[in-house]
Amino acid sequence: MNMGVEQLTDQNPVPHRQPSAPKSGAWQVLSVEDDPIYQASLIYALEGMEFEGLPVQVLTAQSAAKAGVILAENPDIAVVLLDVVMEEDDAGLRLINTIRERQGNASLRIILVTGQPGMAPRDDVMARYDIDDYWNKADLATDKLITLVTANLRTWSYITELDRARRGLQMLVDASRAISGQSDLPSFSRLVLEQISQLIGAEQGGIVSAISVDQEPLNNLQVMAASGCFSSLYGETLEQLNEPPIQDDLIKARQSRQHIFRPNQTILYFHNGKISAQEYLTVVKAAEPLSDFHISLLHVFAEQVSSGFANLGLTNRLSELAYRDTLLGAHNRNWLCWELGRLSQAARAELKLIVLDIDQFAEIEVTFGNRFTDQLLKSVHERLWHGLEHTQQLVRIGSDSFAILSDRHQAPTAEPLRCLLAQPFEIDNSKHDITFTTACLDLAETPDAAPSDILRMAECCIDSARQLHRPHLDYEPEFSHNIRQRLLLLQQLRQALNNNQLQIALQPKVRLSDGQVIGFEALARWQLEDGTQVPPSEFIPLAEAAGLIKELDANILRQTCRAVRQLSESGFNLPIAFNASGNELFQEEYFSELQTLIEEEQVPPSLLELEITETQAMESYEQIETQLRGLIQMGMGVSIDDFGTGYSSLAHITNLAATTLKIDQSFVRKLGQSSDADHAVEMILRISARFGFNTVAEGIETEEQHQRLRDKGCPVGQGYLFAKPQPLSATLAMLKQGLNLPQ
Ligand code: C2E
Ligand code: MG
Ligand code: MG
Repeated sequence: MNMGVEQLTDQNPVPHRQPSAPKSGAWQVLSVEDDPIYQASLIYALEGMEFEGLPVQVLTAQSAAKAGVILAENPDIAVVLLDVVMEEDDAGLRLINTIRERQGNASLRIILVTGQPGMAPRDDVMARYDIDDYWNKADLATDKLITLVTANLRTWSYITELDRARRGLQMLVDASRAISGQSDLPSFSRLVLEQISQLIGAEQGGIVSAISVDQEPLNNLQVMAASGCFSSLYGETLEQLNEPPIQDDLIKARQSRQHIFRPNQTILYFHNGKISAQEYLTVVKAAEPLSDFHISLLHVFAEQVSSGFANLGLTNRLSELAYRDTLLGAHNRNWLCWELGRLSQAARAELKLIVLDIDQFAEIEVTFGNRFTDQLLKSVHERLWHGLEHTQQLVRIGSDSFAILSDRHQAPTAEPLRCLLAQPFEIDNSKHDITFTTACLDLAETPDAAPSDILRMAECCIDSARQLHRPHLDYEPEFSHNIRQRLLLLQQLRQALNNNQLQIALQPKVRLSDGQVIGFEALARWQLEDGTQVPPSEFIPLAEAAGLIKELDANILRQTCRAVRQLSESGFNLPIAFNASGNELFQEEYFSELQTLIEEEQVPPSLLELEITETQAMESYEQIETQLRGLIQMGMGVSIDDFGTGYSSLAHITNLAATTLKIDQSFVRKLGQSSDADHAVEMILRISARFGFNTVAEGIETEEQHQRLRDKGCPVGQGYLFAKPQPLSATLAMLKQGLNLPQ
């Protein structure tokens, strides 16, 4: 923080009062004396006296009682000349105690004067009473009296100065403490003003603070706090200030980036340098010229304000980073959690949360790259931003998802949202149709949920919508149960993986012409401790979603390799196929890790076969084609699983890097019932023959299906008709029974 000070110098002198001169503009001396003649002579002696350019004014009291009242009313009295014997013999002495103890006035100079020194001997009185001097009336000639009063006025002025400095320091400490810990600019500004008015005792005058970003013109600056004569400016801009001398100084302070101290106005200037482009200006207008002392206080306080302002800038910057998405400038997930947590249950019940997820974002990113997806996100954000009411909060909650937090009555329903996003998005001069899946969560339905759970529920609702192939789904409370179950299952799956509790089951692939087993498919099996079998259709997507699939598939592949070895050791050199999930195939390291694992397990690649589903393989075929070809060259088989169900792979069919097409079981199941299914199977078989692929029909359950496939020339089949997937031991036993074994 750069902070400078412009202090006006001798060329431009500041007319100011003596540091501790009394406010009344005259030094006040009180003479307490019951002898009117002595009183008159004293007034006469001090008449016309001046000290440090200010006149000395003599107040008088005829009794100690009267003096007590005058002193209480005039705290600025500097010196009291006090007679000892008045209404009572010790009236003067008792007044000393009243002044020091009851009135708490420690700085007043008390000079005892007595006409009867015998009544109150000097040494005795000086020892017992808190007085500053003791004189015999007889010894006090006029010049002596003036010297005495002058000396005591000087001492009083020093003591008062010190006292003020001490109090000033205390006030500074208090003021600094008050402004530290303020986390928002308006309260910080308000407190700065309060503290300044305490420091300089500005009962009149006024103070105003304004903030600017990016060097806005002065007149545009917003007034964040105002007091005294400036109170009416609060919430306005500095244009309303209408005081040319102040405005000139404000401009000067901004240009020079320095404080400006003048007798009647002070401009404090702060800016946040590297942290942000904010400037902060405080105008202090004093009704009376500020003393050097007050200016010093403001100097020191300005240092405190400066660091407070810097801290605030820093905190704001941090929360900006923590709560904003840097690409879009929109609020982020953290912010949404914070906002949901901040709201009362009643306020939350008035809201709906709509989550909107870009379909196939990962694939779009893989195909077109990051720059493209950044542009896409910006366009989606922009379109949503313009299409929504300004009361609705638009938040980016994930790499490909947004949330809209909205009043329940204004929340956009699925259809208008769909219309808003239906038009293609123009990116890099070409138009792209993008589809979205949306989910809506009524926050009244989830009163007790933690903010992060609310978001998770909405996201699970999106997952469910996708599984059901629906573009939009409204959250229903039973989802919560499902979600909890899923989370529990995920936890168990992690444990099962760690403890090697997943097993493989082998299902034979059978040559249809003679029933000979020509290989197997390894399928993952998971049995919970209570004996329940969790089907792969449940835990595979779960593992994919939780990022566990790589670990799971590596585990299954290792078991597959060992099964291959055990089969070989028992004399059966049969290949075993293993499955891979689409998203892991696109990870760079997948193929190299696969190779390493096979080498470690010392299994010939020709006894392994990779199965990838058609949809997954085709989505970004070009990306994996080379690696698949590499595997084939090593002698490994590559099967396209569930062929016929996914994307049309016909575009690539001529040079598909695969050895086998697996006809999906949905066609097999309908064989003989739907001519379409028969037709599809025939087509696939023709394609296979034409382009040199092996073909395996999946899910053969009946003899009729078996027969039809054989008649159509399908060479290999797999299904419950021959055998269910079973553990290696059962598989070995089956093979050893010797039926239809390879020669
Ligand atoms: P898939 O690769 O197409 O496997 C064939 C599925 O059909 C297996 O289901 C198998 O048990 C079942 N099946 C075999 N014969 C018949 C039959 O005659 N009738 C019927 N109705 N079904 C039959 P499963 O074991 O439930 O596996 C389902 C899917 O889970 C697999 O489909 C595969 O995509 C995936 N999967 C299984 N294990 C793994 C694995 O280790 N890794 C990965 N990434 N996915 C796996
Ligand atoms: Mg398979
Ligand atoms: Mg299949």
